[in-house]
Amino acid sequence: MIVQQDAPVKSRGASNHLFDRGLRVFPDGTTRITVERDPVPRYAKAGRGAYLEDVDGNRFLDLNNNFTTLIHGHAYAPIVEAVSSQLACGSCFANPTEHEIILAEMLIDRIPPVERVRFVNSGTEAVMFAIKAARAFTGRPAIARIEGSFHGAYDWAEIGQAGTPLTWGPPEAPAPVPLYRGAPASVADDVLILRFNDLEGLQRLEDVADRLSCVLVDPMPSRAGLIAADPGYLKALAASAHRSGVLIIADEVLNLRQGYHGAAAKYGLEPDLVAMGKIIGGGFPIGAIGGREDVMRVFGTKQGKGYLPQGGTFSANPVSMLAGHIAMQALTRDEFDRLERLGNDVRTGLSAAIRRHGAPFSVTGAASLFRIHPKENPPREFRQTFCNGEEEEMLRRLHRHFLASGILLPSGAAASLSTPMGLAETTMIVDCFDDFLSHANQH
Ligand code: PMP
Repeated sequence: MIVQQDAPVKSRGASNHLFDRGLRVFPDGTTRITVERDPVPRYAKAGRGAYLEDVDGNRFLDLNNNFTTLIHGHAYAPIVEAVSSQLACGSCFANPTEHEIILAEMLIDRIPPVERVRFVNSGTEAVMFAIKAARAFTGRPAIARIEGSFHGAYDWAEIGQAGTPLTWGPPEAPAPVPLYRGAPASVADDVLILRFNDLEGLQRLEDVADRLSCVLVDPMPSRAGLIAADPGYLKALAASAHRSGVLIIADEVLNLRQGYHGAAAKYGLEPDLVAMGKIIGGGFPIGAIGGREDVMRVFGTKQGKGYLPQGGTFSANPVSMLAGHIAMQALTRDEFDRLERLGNDVRTGLSAAIRRHGAPFSVTGAASLFRIHPKENPPREFRQTFCNGEEEEMLRRLHRHFLASGILLPSGAAASLSTPMGLAETTMIVDCFDDFLSHANQH
């Protein structure tokens, strides 16, 4: 067994103090379950480029990037400048602005099959309204989704997100595991769980297709392992769905950062609707639903088959629209290519270190994303990513080692690179992992 000595913990007095205050006002001390804590979170003071400074004066290379959102790192100067002048002109209106048209035009130009767009405020909302749009269009209530993947907090999208070996049921018929006690059973009744890369399981989709409005699928589900689809899987999934009039929703909230045209296009998936978020807001809250013109018509007209009213107090606010457009404009094809090369360097370097040390780890991911698994073989689907106690402890040690070396490595889902990074940062990441494995082998 690999054992790693606990890394020296950097000073965290001010974070401790803030967490004490946080515990008095929040049920668990912060307001997001996803905040890293070990056992106390590090409170952020400022971010510049690829680096984040905490309230104790520690500086870290940030591989979290606010859950992959900050593709240009922190305080990206063109966005700071443009948003500052927009703030002086007003931050939100009940009226539309030109900024929403400019961002929508860009998304339509880049992301197939986006022909029409609606803006909302988060990825959760984008997924929720995409599902509602699919229901309104097809007149059917149920959805299918992939086991273990994360799609935000809409009830139907949450089912099957967090199964365990005790609850997830047989591989040939995964259980629609609710996320929390008290979740209405009727919600689970309307969710079919499929396993990623399970071609045989697609028959189950066709068996209940007359109740299904859509299949919700992230082309590379991050929480479920940041695992690539097997060749042909996504095409077969779409074919099964389309044969029965079931729509495909590509959840690109996270994976849009994989390329100029997004991840679905990259991996040959042809969705009917696309849920977007994160990078398209340039660091401000955003979500977007895009898709085929005929399907998106449900948002627009009371005539015709379906009609789906959708508003939102802050939807399409000019700050998010403007920041998002600047962020996306800077993401040229060349810049995506450069990010992909950096990602390749990191994944290749990490894998080489694993081989050199003969360590029981593997690496998944693509483009600017990577994930380290405490598993000898790279997982092919969610169930294979499930960690036992020893593996979880290994991940904790890995996380601490990175932290002690000045790198924030997300312990769960996806680690991400940002455009301010270069060779210095990729080398730092690979060297840090190599160092972890060297120490690990000494015991
Ligand atoms: N879908 C995916 C694939 C995501 O990664 C996320 C957020 N991590 C969401 C949906 C939800 O987005 P938000 O947190 O903006 O609600």
